[in-house]
Amino acid sequence: MRDETVPLPTPRLLHHPDGITAVDAEYLHPGHAAAHLVRHDGRAAFVDVGTNHSVPYLLAALAALGLRPEAVDYVLLTHVHLDHAGGAGQLMRALPNAVCVLHPRGAPHMIDPTRLTAGSRAVYGPERFERLYGQIEPIAAERVHVTHDGERLSLAGRPFEILHTPGHALHHQVFVDLAHRCMFTGDTFGISYRELDSPAGAFITPTTTPTQFDPAQMRASIERLLGYAPEAMYLMHYSRVTGVPRLAQSLLQQIEDLERIARASANAPDRHGAIQAAMWQLWRELALRHGCPVSETRLAELLAGDLELNTQGLVHWLDTRAT
Ligand SMILES: [Zn+2]
Repeated sequence: MRDETVPLPTPRLLHHPDGITAVDAEYLHPGHAAAHLVRHDGRAAFVDVGTNHSVPYLLAALAALGLRPEAVDYVLLTHVHLDHAGGAGQLMRALPNAVCVLHPRGAPHMIDPTRLTAGSRAVYGPERFERLYGQIEPIAAERVHVTHDGERLSLAGRPFEILHTPGHALHHQVFVDLAHRCMFTGDTFGISYRELDSPAGAFITPTTTPTQFDPAQMRASIERLLGYAPEAMYLMHYSRVTGVPRLAQSLLQQIEDLERIARASANAPDRHGAIQAAMWQLWRELALRHGCPVSETRLAELLAGDLELNTQGLVHWLDTRAT
């Protein structure tokens, strides 16, 4: 439980239309990961929460908006990757009335995080895992709501539709804010750092991280989201983007490009190196053409983590794909 004698930190907030606020989850560096807080008629919901280290910032955001923890009805999780969901157990303990809304493939891992923790500890090593994520707290099963595709839920009368969207992960879902033509896309609609915005708008890239990336599923999920003609998407990395049709086009094209890059490197002696070099080349050219207002060094710095994770995801996909 939070020590009440420790003052809350100052959260970095972005205020958007329709009662939506982005809260910097302070994961890796500012501007990397955004949890969202949706307010409606005195009630509230979080969409994705970051890690345990994010929780004080989320509680501070509530306080900054004049909301009590009791006002939070939902913790909506797009998927159970730890940068999105790692802090959910700890946060739920601070929100007495909240229900945690999870995909059926994600729910078991939050109710008993043993496997999720063991898997990530193996990837990151115990020390780095501890530093990034801390102790993953379980969520009591009776406080978990397991969704089905197409289901609706209501935040004080504000309707959300839940879509199961495989492609980034099999346990991924998107929350459509039906009355406001926007949606919370987790990692299904790529990543788009605000530092790379140019006069042409947002720069976007797909996220193909291990271990469940599937290009055909990801394309189908993006097409499905487009069917709602959304005006804005709220991404975990990083918050609100508009001009959705152009961004979708770019994502669909890049997913094809990355699939082609992976297939072309399938028999290379160093697949990881070959894929990573080709992906960097692709992103460098796209960013240059888009007019991203950063140096090549800064671009490389900003995208380094995604480049590595995307490469690992494509290598894993090559090893496990059916054809
Ligand atoms: Zn993810």
